[in-house]
This record gives sequence, C-alpha cells and structure tokens, in this order.
Amino acid sequence: MSHERPPVGRLAPSPTGALHLGNARSFLLAWLSIRLQGGTLLLRIEDIDSPRVKPWTIQHTIDTLRWLGLDWDHGPDDSVSTEPAAGLSYPIPLVQSHRIQRYQQCLDQLISAEQVYRCYCSRKEVEAAASAPHESRPTLELDAVRYPGTCRSLSPMEQKSASGRKFAWRMLTPDTLLEWQDGLLGPQQLNPSETLGDFVLAKDSGLPAYQLAVVVDDFDMQVSEVVRGNDLILSTFRQRIVQSALGLMPPEEYYHLPLMIGPDGRRLAKRHGDTRVSSFRELGVSAEALIGYLSWTSGLIERPQQVSCAELLQSFDQMPWERVPVEPTVVDEQQATKILKSMP
Ligand code: GLU
Repeated sequence: MSHERPPVGRLAPSPTGALHLGNARSFLLAWLSIRLQGGTLLLRIEDIDSPRVKPWTIQHTIDTLRWLGLDWDHGPDDSVSTEPAAGLSYPIPLVQSHRIQRYQQCLDQLISAEQVYRCYCSRKEVEAAASAPHESRPTLELDAVRYPGTCRSLSPMEQKSASGRKFAWRMLTPDTLLEWQDGLLGPQQLNPSETLGDFVLAKDSGLPAYQLAVVVDDFDMQVSEVVRGNDLILSTFRQRIVQSALGLMPPEEYYHLPLMIGPDGRRLAKRHGDTRVSSFRELGVSAEALIGYLSWTSGLIERPQQVSCAELLQSFDQMPWERVPVEPTVVDEQQATKILKSMP
C-alpha cells in the first residue's frame, strides 16, 4: 500500500479483562504490519466502558504485551507528556478517560447539526421491539440489536412528557448503501438504516459510547491503519457514519481479522477453558512459543515453532496479508496447551 507518510496504527485494548489469545493475535498482526512499514504504533487504552472496566487490567495488559515482545512508540505512559508525539502534530493523552471533553465537543457538534436524537427507550424495550417477527436482526455481531427507531421522530408533546427521564443520544443512520474496502476481506457494503438501525453515541451525561470515542481518537491521533477482530466489522460501518457526520477523514486502511472460536463454533471465552496469555505464561510457556502459535494460526509460519517478534519482523519485507486466513480459527484449549508446551 502506498502512503504519503508512514502509517500510524494502534493497539486499542479495553481494560475489561486479561489479554487472551484472540486479542493477542490481533495485536501481533497490527504490530507486525506497522513495523514492516516503518510506521508509528500507538497503544491506546479504551477505558470508558465503565461498568466493565477493571483498572488493574491496564498494567496487566501492558506487561503481557511487553512480555510477548510487542512494542509501541507512544502509549499511556507518555500520554500526559507535553512533548508532541513524533509524527503527531500535538500531544494527545492515549487514554480515553482523559479525553472526555474532546468527545463531548464532537457530540455537541452532532447535536447542533441534528444528527443525533434523544432516545428514551430502555434496553429491554429495544430488545423487545427488535425481536418482533417483522424486524431483521444482524447476525454478524453478537450483541447487536437493530433499534427500530421508536424515538426517531417523537412529537414535541411526547418529548415534553419524556423530559426528566433518562435517555441516550442516538445517531441517525442514513438509508443508503455504504461501501468501503477491507484490506483482508475485500469490498464491504450494506444499507446501515436497514441492517444496523440508529445506534447509541453517548449517554445523557455526555459520556461517549465506543463508536464516538474511537472515531474521534482515530482522527485526532492520525491513525491511518486499523487492524482489529472482525467482530467489529459492523462497527466500522457505524464509525464511517460518525466520521462523515463530523466531517472527519476515515483511516485509509482497515483489516478485520478472523476470530478465534471454540470447538463449539462460539467465540473463544471462559467456557472454553483458560486462554489468557498470562495463564500460559504461568504454566511455563515461553513468549516465543506463544508468538509461534499465534503466527502459525494466522498463516505467517508453516509449522508451530517458537519464534520471537524480532525474528518474525526479519522474515518479511512486507506484511503477508495474503497468507492470513479469513475463516475463524478453532481453538481447543487442551490441544493448544499441548502444542504450546512441546513447541520446538
Ligand atoms: N477496544 C476495542 C476492543 O478491545 C477495540 C477497538 C478497536 O480496535 O477499534 O475490543
């Protein structure tokens, strides 16, 4: 890919739990791609999903990533420095909870432009309406429920009678075909109004939702390459809507990576056993074995064998995206542990 300037990528963990194999693999590929292009890599902590955030996992994630051999040019440690980050035109805290005001400015812009509206529906009401038989339900994203638009055009009377009740700001989704190109998966298109519905951008307190924060961050941090799990592919459509409503240029490249799933076909989770990187480390598995496993399951090396991040970097001139499979990787925890413990 030709860039006028070296690309800027990001690792964007949410500190909601320990790093597991799936996240680690996405981060490895995001890291490798940027390092092979001589770009700048940011570590951004996405800590605004308040009920799920566990603050201890921030340092734990940083330690685990470092132990694996990944590095970054700017991260939360230098986030409050007054020195401009190299390649960035001004200093930006790389922790979302330090940037709430900036997100609120953008929310205000959307409120003034009437691109968002107040939605008074409770989660239960949304789910009940969305599961009515005539409503379509997106299948790709586990927790996505299409909002049926109940509060989209409330009359002034209805607005008035709802005043004082809790609400969320919802983004108006356009009824038009939205298209973009994924570097791994090829052309993507859908009509967001039909498939996704209007989505939440912030709480009534102004606390932003992920979709708003990530768009503002990627723009402010001049991120040009987004590499992440394909559970976020529908979010990319949402984010492109927000980018366009705010008049912000989207990142140039998106790569949505296959997920790791359990033998039952469901996304890798606790029910499939312990796939936290730190647990393998405690079992005595080396970082090179883990990097080898993640590289092997993403097509970068042919056999499971120990490899360091530095060795991986030396073995390619450019990111071998053509080797990365698009199908999910089935992980059987016991088998994976065996492979990891006996890796040459
Ligand atoms: N923080 C998100 C997560 O951990 C990733 C967001 C992104 O890459 O855009 O799932």
